[in-house]
Amino acid sequence: RGRVEIDDVVIRFKGKQGTVTALERTSHVLEPGTFTSLIGPSGCGKSTLMNAIAGFVTPAEGALRLDGKPITGPSPEVGVIFQQYALFPWFTALNNVRFGLKQFGLSKREEIDRARAALDEVGLAAHADKYPQQLSGGMKQRVAIARTFAVEPKVLLMDEPFGALDAQTRLVMHDLLLGIWRKHKATVLFVTHDVDEALLLSDHVQVMSQAPGRLIRHYHLTQERPRA
Ligand code: ADP
Ligand code: ADP
Repeated sequence: RGRVEIDDVVIRFKGKQGTVTALERTSHVLEPGTFTSLIGPSGCGKSTLMNAIAGFVTPAEGALRLDGKPITGPSPEVGVIFQQYALFPWFTALNNVRFGLKQFGLSKREEIDRARAALDEVGLAAHADKYPQQLSGGMKQRVAIARTFAVEPKVLLMDEPFGALDAQTRLVMHDLLLGIWRKHKATVLFVTHDVDEALLLSDHVQVMSQAPGRLIRHYHLTQERPRA
């Protein structure tokens, strides 16, 4: 479960200067449980591909499927983490995680228990009652990771999730993310500008061409990952 098919997808945006083709006949399959990094020049269409898999953008042509079913809009099966943490500032860390669980009709007790377990997994059990402004950037991104994994998505899309963090914090986040990914076995697609980060984290690297974006090269990394 968690197989993503990108089948001959074309995405266009209408703007003042006419139509921009963001993705041009792009095809690829993300196999269940793989961790793929997506790299390519700025503006080539990486975010657009993420937004399409997340169901935020609809292809003009081609199709996107999750486990054989067409992706027609956002769903709890596909989680998204952005560079900007997108936490609600007026909710505590715990309530930010609970928010993601609202759609499942859990009892209040179950909701709180699951949110606490998720915060525990990212090492924030002691900070559950703090508000985002009381947390560091790395801690805010941990809350975002907890909120996303608490929902048990089949697919996790991350758009430069650590781009705003300092080098030391990034290293800690890499270990944390890999640990959680191995446990939950989600299919991950990870956009980064940092080739070293791509090689460290993923077992597949996908390169996108200059705009209009096309997936032009695929590397399957079979080597043991080097340790920092
Ligand atoms: P990055 O290169 O870091 O992905 P971008 O500035 O290219 O950042 O895009 C950030 C977000 O803004 C993306 O989700 C993208 O869909 C949206 N975006 C990019 N260009 C435009 C545009 N011309 N008009 C409206 N939205 C855009
Ligand atoms: P990347 O993430 O690789 O930096 P994006 O996917 O953000 O690239 O953008 C790809 C192209 O599509 C760019 O030319 C961008 O300006 C355009 N684009 C992205 N989102 C929008 C949007 N919502 N409206 C108009 N143009 C967009």
